[in-house]
Parts: sequence; structure tokens; C-alpha cells
Amino acid sequence: MPDKPLIRKLKAAETLRQVMGDYYQRLKNAQDSGEQRVAWCSSVGPAELLYAMDFEVYFPENHAAMIGASKKANQYIPVSVANGYSPDICSYLTSDIGAFLKGETPLKKMGLDSVPRPDILVYNTNQCREVVDWFKFYADHFKVPIVGINTPLNLGEVSPGTVKYISDQYRQLVPVLETVSGRKFVPERFKAAVGLSRDACELWKEVLETAVHRPAPINFFDASIHMGPIVVMRGTSYALEYYQLLLSELKERLKDGVGAVAKEQFRIYWEGMPLWYNLSLLAKLFARLDACVVASTYCNSWIFDDLDPDHPFESSALAYTKLFIVRSDSVKQQLLAEHLDRFSIDGIIYHDAKTCPRNTNNQHGLQVRLHDLTGVPYLEISGDLNDSRCFSREQGIIAIETFLQQIAMDK
Ligand code: SF4
Repeated sequence: MPDKPLIRKLKAAETLRQVMGDYYQRLKNAQDSGEQRVAWCSSVGPAELLYAMDFEVYFPENHAAMIGASKKANQYIPVSVANGYSPDICSYLTSDIGAFLKGETPLKKMGLDSVPRPDILVYNTNQCREVVDWFKFYADHFKVPIVGINTPLNLGEVSPGTVKYISDQYRQLVPVLETVSGRKFVPERFKAAVGLSRDACELWKEVLETAVHRPAPINFFDASIHMGPIVVMRGTSYALEYYQLLLSELKERLKDGVGAVAKEQFRIYWEGMPLWYNLSLLAKLFARLDACVVASTYCNSWIFDDLDPDHPFESSALAYTKLFIVRSDSVKQQLLAEHLDRFSIDGIIYHDAKTCPRNTNNQHGLQVRLHDLTGVPYLEISGDLNDSRCFSREQGIIAIETFLQQIAMDK
């Protein structure tokens, strides 16, 4: 008799493929027909405003993650390095620009010969400054405008003054977007997009929160794939419809007691970015060790439930500034402690990503302070999001196996 599968695939994955394929087809159509303008947006940038102004919106980070998952980043990073980018900076940036310079893209399998040509690039530095350098390369290449929102970092409280500072910047984008899109800004359309985004974010939150149950019906590795629509289509009905479908499948799993992995003995929290080139390897490893990675900072980062269609500018400013990555270590520590408790976590794994210090939270003592506060054991793994040369598979596997053995002994 064949072994029972250790990982249970979600049926919604088939629909997800279609939804993401349709999204890229809309970008291709916009470019081919010239009837709609294309805006490039950073992953936690003002997507709702861009969709409200009738742009098709393309997210280079989603493209870079696809390059990582295709295991080809290491062919492209040296091309960027040869063009003056350090191998130590964001490997999303270096693999994406390297692929572009080499004339390659994983979008070919979706019918696009290249990344869609931007009419404008729009960023928010809430995640990092690297997005500006990244977008500036393409703005210079295509000779199109680049605009953005500059967000202060390391915030404790998000004060009304900060919200005003950001919402003013949102408002200042409008005339530029009107000029590029050739469309007038219609407040009702922005409110509608913010409402759609908020509703999709609430569904995404519900999806992730199903994992508070034992066994968890979804794990970090599934969620890293199924987060595609909330990253690239929030502000549209496509994301909303997709998460209704996914959530109903997860509720079925809860009813039937079906977990994401065959046996869930240990519940793990993942802090940091995915290792895109080894997502499947790690998913299988944890399943083999009877462990489920039930929650993560990364996937939680697209829950913008402060969005409020009645106050679209101010609530966008608030939601995109309350983000985990924007906050001070003491706020992060508090948020992590709440997650560890809420998801009944046995251990936390910090991915120390070589080229993304912004999404790495174990470099300034937070891991020790959180351990002192909660007693939850932790493991630190050196790696990277796209540059697989930074991750030793053998050492990583042994470290994870040993960590879980220690947790088992302490249980
Ligand atoms: S947050 Fe990290 S991975 Fe994302 S664009 Fe910035 S540096 Fe790159």
C-alpha cells in the first residue's frame, strides 16, 4: 500500500492558478491594447488608489518571488552585480533586475514575453528603501515617472500626526496619477476599492486564523502561495472571491478535523521571509517531523483591517503604517508574544535573511527578549529569500530536526 501523503494539498490551488493566470492576462491585455495604463506598485504600496484610478497594477515583488521559486535567481543575481548592484542587497532586486537584463522572466509560461511595461511606478518605503532603488532602475530604463510615499520607520505608536503626514502624501499622488492614467479621480471609486480591500483582508485574516485550531488546516507553506491574490489584487473583487472559496474549504477541513500535515505534534511559528527556492523541501521536512508551521509574520503582513471606506485616505495611511515591519522592536515583541500565545506555539524559527535585514528580526536581541518573556524556544537559521547560496540545506535540515527533538524532550 502506498504511504499516506504527509502534506494535504488544498483543492483551491487549482483555482488559484487560474486566478493568478487571469491577473497576468489582464496586465498583458492592458499593455497590448493600450486601453489601460499599467502602474507598478510595491507589495504594501497604495494598490487601492491605483486600482480605483483604473490602472492594471503589477507588483515586482511577486515577480521576484516567482524567480526565487523557479530556482533561477542565482543565474540572474550576478548579472545585476556586473551592473553595479552589490550581492549583499535585496536579492529580490538583484534577481529581478538581472532577469530583466538577461531578457528572461517566469511570466513567459503565462504568455508574457517580458514584464509589463510601466506607465508609472509607485512605491511606499514602509517596507524598505530598496524598493525606491529597484523602481528607479525601471523608471530610468522606461523613462516614466516614479512617485511614492515615504514612511517613517521604527514606530512605537502610530500618532495622528504620522497618519496626517502619510495621508497628505497619498493625496499628493492623485494629480500625477490623473495625468498618467488620463482618468479623473472619483472619490466613490477609491472608497469602493478600499472597501473591497478591507473585506478581502478580513477574509485573509480568517483564512490564517483557522490555524489556531488543532490540527491547523493550513500551514505557512500553503499560505505563502495562497497569499498571491491579497498581495496583487487587494482592492478588486477577484481577491475577495478567491478568499471566500479558500475559506470555505478550510472550514470544511476544520469540520472534518483535517490538518495541513498528516500528523501535527508540534506547532511552529515562522519569523522572517520564506526561502522561495526551498519552500517545498521545508514543507516536506516539517511534515515528516510531525510539525506544522501554523503562523508567520510574513503572511500576517497583508492583513490591513484598519482600512475604512468612509475615510479612504486616512485609513489607508493608518493601515499601511501600522504594519509589523514599520514598528519598533518593542511593538514587534508584543505582537509576536500575542501570536505565540494565540496559535499555541511550541517553538519559533527566525529566518535570518542575508539580503533583507528589514524582514529579519533576530539581529538586535528581540529573539532573546521574547524568549525571556514567553519561554518559547527558538532557532535561528541563516539563509535568504532568493539567493540560495546563503542557505546550507544540510545544516538547515539538521538544525530543524535537532530543534524539534529538543522541543519533544521538553514537552
Ligand atoms: S522588504 Fe526586503 S525583500 Fe522586500 S523589497 Fe525590501 S529589501 Fe527586498
